[in-house]
Amino acid sequence: MDEHEPTYGMRTRMIHSARAANETTAVSPPIYQTSTFLVGTPEEGAALAAAVAPDHYYSRYGSPNTRQVELLLAALEGSEAALAVGSGMAAIATALLSNLRAGDHIVAQRTHYTGTMTLLTTTLPGYGIAVTQVDQRDTEAFARAIQPNTRVVYTESPTNPTMDLTDLRATAEIAHTAGALAITDNTFASAYNQHPLDLGYDLVIHSATKYLNGHADVTAGVLVGARRLIESAWEYARVHGPMLHPFEAWLLRRGLNTYGLRMAAHNANGLAVARFLEGHAAVERVYYPGLASHPQHALACQQMPGGFGGMLAFEMRGGYDAAYRAIGRTKLCLLAVSLGGVETLITHPASMIHTHQSDEERAAAGISPSLIRLSVGIEDSEALLRDLDRALGA
Ligand SMILES: *Cc1c(COP(=O)(O)O)cnc(C)c1O
Repeated sequence: MDEHEPTYGMRTRMIHSARAANETTAVSPPIYQTSTFLVGTPEEGAALAAAVAPDHYYSRYGSPNTRQVELLLAALEGSEAALAVGSGMAAIATALLSNLRAGDHIVAQRTHYTGTMTLLTTTLPGYGIAVTQVDQRDTEAFARAIQPNTRVVYTESPTNPTMDLTDLRATAEIAHTAGALAITDNTFASAYNQHPLDLGYDLVIHSATKYLNGHADVTAGVLVGARRLIESAWEYARVHGPMLHPFEAWLLRRGLNTYGLRMAAHNANGLAVARFLEGHAAVERVYYPGLASHPQHALACQQMPGGFGGMLAFEMRGGYDAAYRAIGRTKLCLLAVSLGGVETLITHPASMIHTHQSDEERAAAGISPSLIRLSVGIEDSEALLRDLDRALGA
């Protein structure tokens, strides 16, 4: 089928848009567990060696399994092209380093995913790339931070874990006015709920480890955007080598087949749990963009047309002790980092995730000792509410 056929809905595209990269008659495409491919003739070998992103040459360059993932992701985000890599951090590093050189400047947010924070505060400055981080809720702050050498505006909305939003349309415009690229990490919002390319963004990154794969059994990352940007990202990846391996790509392709069904369930459960917690006596405050009480709820309704996802955070009354007691008492909500899988996960960000940040950075990111984060899964919502009620009770 034509993967950009506009009459097919997203659930259909996530099942059929990779068929062009399955040359066999197997309905479930085979795993190409090989590092290298036969070339027909010496001329063909020379052509493949010089090709951009060949999928039948050498598996660091790509494979039929990564190609299938890339076709699905391009169909999902409505982009010209996509690149699959071995983790979300590989996608972020590839997106930034394939577009930045020594002497360049990047505007980013004060709060990002923990690995991204280290990249921004340590790795990039070490390469001679200047970084300015601004409060993502303050759109004007992005414009004020622009310099003559600004090449990239880098965002992430909502943020982890306090669910602050960045105005994506406005920040893309600020980037383009300055002649810079707009790049965003869309992992938390999900491609189902938010479409940064439609809001003007040039490159969109996902940790496919999370919602895209959805089964907590793969680490992977993807970049989507214009072919020109994806090709230069591929060239960076060819040299640095973060490619996604065939079996992981096969699992991710299978996870994507049920993406729409899963995301609808995450959205419904996320909202149900957020409302329940907001009315609970043991809870001080809930952070979820789908609640009318969220300070940026209006912006969330504009730029998250698909829904608000399964990620939320809440502060317990009773501080650290209350939070620590609660995370040890759930039975269905599993105590583990990561997010976006079918099972509900509960974490204590201050002690389990943001340990590579200083106390000041944690405070600036709004990570208090009483904060608990939930990645709401796709279980029956009644069971989740009962589990949480039991854990939060006196
Ligand atoms: C998990 C995550 C990443 C990193 O992805 P990995 O697959 O763990 O490398 C980046 N950004 C966000 C928002 C994430 O949640």
